[in-house]
Amino acid sequence: MSKQHTHETCQQHVPAPAHASCGVHDHTAHSHTHAEIDLDCGCGHEHHHHHEQGSKKNVWPIVSLVIAAVLMAAGFILRLFDGLPEFVSDIVFVAAAVLSGYPVLIDGVKDLLKLRLDEHLLVSIAVIAACIIGEFPEAAAVTIFFQVGEMFEEFAVNRSKKSIAALTEIRPDTAHVMEKGTLVQKRAEEIPIGSVITVLPFERVPLDGTVRTGQSSLDASAITGESIPLEASAGTNALSGMINGSGTLELEVTNTYGDSAASRIIDMVENAASRKASTERTVSKFARIYTPVIVVAAILLAVIPSLITGEWSEWIHRSLIFLVASCPCALVLSVPLSFFAGIGAASKKGILVKGGEFIEKLSKADTVVFDKTGTLTTGELSVSSVIPSHGHTEEEVLQYAAGCEYYSNHPIAKAIVTAYGRMEEASVSDFQETPGHGTAARVLGKEVLCGGKNMMQQRGLDFAALPEAQVYVCVAGELIGAVQVSGTVRDDSAQAVRELKALGVNHVVMLTGDNEQAAAQTAQACGITEYRAGLLPGDKVTALEELKKGSAGTVFVGDGINDAPVLATADVGVAMGLGTDAAIEAGDIVLTNNRPSRLSDAVRLFRRTMGIVKFNIAFALIVKMAVLLLGALGLASMWAAVFADVGVSVLAVLNASRILRVRRETTQQLKS
Ligand code: ADP
Ligand code: MG
Repeated sequence: MSKQHTHETCQQHVPAPAHASCGVHDHTAHSHTHAEIDLDCGCGHEHHHHHEQGSKKNVWPIVSLVIAAVLMAAGFILRLFDGLPEFVSDIVFVAAAVLSGYPVLIDGVKDLLKLRLDEHLLVSIAVIAACIIGEFPEAAAVTIFFQVGEMFEEFAVNRSKKSIAALTEIRPDTAHVMEKGTLVQKRAEEIPIGSVITVLPFERVPLDGTVRTGQSSLDASAITGESIPLEASAGTNALSGMINGSGTLELEVTNTYGDSAASRIIDMVENAASRKASTERTVSKFARIYTPVIVVAAILLAVIPSLITGEWSEWIHRSLIFLVASCPCALVLSVPLSFFAGIGAASKKGILVKGGEFIEKLSKADTVVFDKTGTLTTGELSVSSVIPSHGHTEEEVLQYAAGCEYYSNHPIAKAIVTAYGRMEEASVSDFQETPGHGTAARVLGKEVLCGGKNMMQQRGLDFAALPEAQVYVCVAGELIGAVQVSGTVRDDSAQAVRELKALGVNHVVMLTGDNEQAAAQTAQACGITEYRAGLLPGDKVTALEELKKGSAGTVFVGDGINDAPVLATADVGVAMGLGTDAAIEAGDIVLTNNRPSRLSDAVRLFRRTMGIVKFNIAFALIVKMAVLLLGALGLASMWAAVFADVGVSVLAVLNASRILRVRRETTQQLKS
């Protein structure tokens, strides 16, 4: 199963290595299939590569650090010998500092030349100044601990990046095509819609398609996060990224490579970093003004009291502690890392998020509004009854209705066309559809209207003689009958509503264009007490705007059919399924597996993500401020300063990477 990810089959364009800033040196990112994921912490750093190429050099940072640590220990031992002049141990300390610190010093010089203030410059100044005032052991300690911290961070960042990159490795480049009795491999990009491809056992499906022949199962976990394999036989829709079971399948391709489900998921995951949460933006703005302010404060701290007291060495020393303690790395790295991890953890559950922004907004939301048809109920409706008016037959009603609905994509239309089952395209012309109203067309030479109450009212047609229905059929100005359709409530709709309420979402509302009776039934089945029926798409927008007032955040969950404007109006638009382009475009979050209950999973996960983000911010700020203050007062040692910098950022990063460790729901998810 891991075959699909080997390098021969993945020659697709491999973008530049992912990078994280804050001096995290990327050792692994040049392995072949890493997607371009930019963990930008907004501090404007470029990436620093000192010791990257080749695996041999990968051990050098560790070896040099170990030697430096040994040298430092030796320095302290040498100090114990009274007879030895101090400069001997000082030389050993300087050697330790240079050995462990030269990459930082090089970066510091580069930063200075580019007039960029970041932690490399802060550390470089601190180390050089420590040497100038003769504090050689501290110079060595600062560089050694700084490098240890960077290595830890790098490890955590790489781990998260790998786990996200795995999400983007779900798209094989090649597909098997049967040509003159032999199976040949072709580039998936070149295969047009309508061709037939062969998916061998345990291969990943390269393109979306409908099964023509074959019996197998499909593991959809990479796409939907769902662990139970789907049965696949003729007629099953297979999505790219799913893994075939033990049978061979022949698929008729329904989407091009670029439009395939796998491509959509990859695009979304890769672009997610660009829509930052406001917390994230605030932190990077803060970091940008923070460093210059700290440098100026440190200079003032070194100079002003010294001019007054004449104790230059003491105040420079305090200023150094202040500098070392001040590095904003913990914030600058752990906050974006947390959002990044939240996006990754969500995708594993079939929840695709278009940016950290929506993690923050969803975690705060107190109002969740559901669309009915296609969202709380399955997208597939069926005709439950056909009621002809006096003097007409069921057959006639259904025939005209099916003709009129022939070109519509609405679930109601599909139900009617399926129920009639033998409509001929040639008999239909002049098709028109009004969202939320219905359709009009010329069928078998007659003007036909097919739509809800609104539409009939508008035309002045009296439907009072017919029972309440979703669709009334009017032929040449005469109402000939009505069609009732019904959907099945999704099996986890009620669970979703219950869980959302348990999570403290105090408004769960249903908005629908369907009639009162159908709405009441669905609402009751789902445990929703607040609902509004008979709404046109525009009314849904108005209703949502009303709900927005006095709400801490609104979420609209829809299927993208007739509700794209509402998806865009809500603070967070959640689209069901990878089905319609409109939903994927308009939605901020996409539930790939059509399960409303994934929304409550998302709320839980994102609240946890925000909790970790807030904890990290508070923890870093409190520790840093305390050490800064104590350093300025001469009460904190260099060791405390080193902990405030390295310790806090390591802890914050480790805390952030906990987000990725979600409960695995599948057995063989993205193992590769
Ligand atoms: P929902 O809010 O449940 O998703 P819609 O807004 O899509 O429903 O549709 C609301 C109502 O408009 C339907 O119940 C039906 O009466 C009418 N309608 C919309 N589109 C069509 C169509 N293609 N054919 C017939 N009736 C339609
Ligand atoms: Mg709908």
